[in-house]
Amino acid sequence: MAIELFNTLSGRVEPLAPSDGAVLRMYACGPTIYDYGHIGNFRTFIHVDVLRRFLRQSGITVRHVMNITDVDDKIIRNAAIAGKPIGEYTARFEKAFFEDMAALGVETPEVLPRATENIPEMVALIERLGARDIAYQVEDGSWYFRIARFPEYGKLSKKDFDGIEDGARVEVDEYEKDAARDFALWKAVKNGPDGTPETSWDTEIGRGRPGWHIECSAMATKYLGDDFDLHAGGEDLMFPHHENEIAQSESASGKTFARHWMHVRFLLVEGKKMSKSEGNFYTLRDLLLKGHRASAIRFLLMSVPYRHQLNFTFDGLLESTNAVDRLRTFTQRMRQGGFGEGLNAELEAVTAQALAKYDAALNNDLNTAEARAAIFDLVRAANSAADTGSLKAENATQILRVLERFDGVFAVLEDRDAEITRAALEWAEGEGRIDEADPELVERLSLTDAAIDALVAERTNAKKTRNFARADAIRNDLLAKGIVIEDSKDGVRWKRK
Ligand code: AMP
Ligand code: ZN
Repeated sequence: MAIELFNTLSGRVEPLAPSDGAVLRMYACGPTIYDYGHIGNFRTFIHVDVLRRFLRQSGITVRHVMNITDVDDKIIRNAAIAGKPIGEYTARFEKAFFEDMAALGVETPEVLPRATENIPEMVALIERLGARDIAYQVEDGSWYFRIARFPEYGKLSKKDFDGIEDGARVEVDEYEKDAARDFALWKAVKNGPDGTPETSWDTEIGRGRPGWHIECSAMATKYLGDDFDLHAGGEDLMFPHHENEIAQSESASGKTFARHWMHVRFLLVEGKKMSKSEGNFYTLRDLLLKGHRASAIRFLLMSVPYRHQLNFTFDGLLESTNAVDRLRTFTQRMRQGGFGEGLNAELEAVTAQALAKYDAALNNDLNTAEARAAIFDLVRAANSAADTGSLKAENATQILRVLERFDGVFAVLEDRDAEITRAALEWAEGEGRIDEADPELVERLSLTDAAIDALVAERTNAKKTRNFARADAIRNDLLAKGIVIEDSKDGVRWKRK
């Protein structure tokens, strides 16, 4: 069985495999690092992660490139307002982005090019198009793409652009959905919001900076070749961004840029488009500071298949929290053992069936909901078998193998939640934003491991000197903060509840 994925370009579910028989080359549009990432952004990155993890699990080697857009209008504007060079301004958000991705268990792509480090490649691509008059320069020095020269324009988004007006231009990167206009490849230097010249590069095609679309064409081609297997991004990027990437790249190379296009549908919050003015806009950090767990957020964002809209609700997040807890408790139970010797053949069949269903679901256009359901069916069957004593040691081993495979993609079993939340609290502290955090959470997680070690040592000493009141007080204080001290014959241990 091989993976099949919906291809926006063909409009069909199609097999996905490395065209060179060796490495699956994929490109996913990365973040624009002008602010903290929101849960909608992460929904898209998590589903791309589901794809790459499942491909690797299926024995396919992946070369995954994700660009970092570290120069654009918003970055230039915000950096000027902050009075910082753009590199300094974006460094902070780039760091935050990778921290958030790690917190959400997203694997790091093989190649992470920054736009500002690939300017010569963008310039070379524009020159190539310019040599054939597909790119042209206007009075202010900016360069535009002549879409009348690319008759297939619209083939990805299935838009029919009748009567393309040659030379009608748009200056901005994101524009009205039905406009077929020549778009900017290179923006000549202007004065920024504070009156000083904007960030720019001195190049063969003049002084300026790249447009957004050319960044992806140049970087995808540089790291994956003129044609590659798959290109991914959120559904909002289909037009104009991806349509423009195709026009630029295919005009230059004469080859099909990406064979397969994957678009992740949008995340809504409580049924509405997420927006700051609606008050329903959440970054990952907002949720962590309110006490929601990273694992539950990942689980929720991935549980609805990528081709369906996800309606994010706090009820849903609670349900995900409970689901992750159940999975962890169950895994613990299987690991603990104490089951009778042997193998229950009936449960063995149920286990094999769950594994088959899991694989079939993900092979079928990454149906994460069905894959998840297959595993929960197994959890239910195994729990009741364990309750009645009919689950045997061999069954537990087999079930643990299935859980491991499931977790290779879902990645929620290892409990890093407290550690991630503590890092978020430290960040909020540093930013002077700790008042945004849930006070109870702050209280519970305010103790570092070293501080707990010191208190536990103090308690041991207090006991030695027969100061039992002090020893008990330390134990009770820690307990109130969710830390349990366990005395055993091998010494004293503690753990967070
Ligand atoms: P940006 O940093 O805005 O370029 O977005 C990074 C990625 O997040 C892109 O692939 C977008 O398509 C995607 N994205 C933005 N908003 C949402 C949303 N509400 N739901 C899902 N994906 C989104
Ligand atoms: Zn892109």
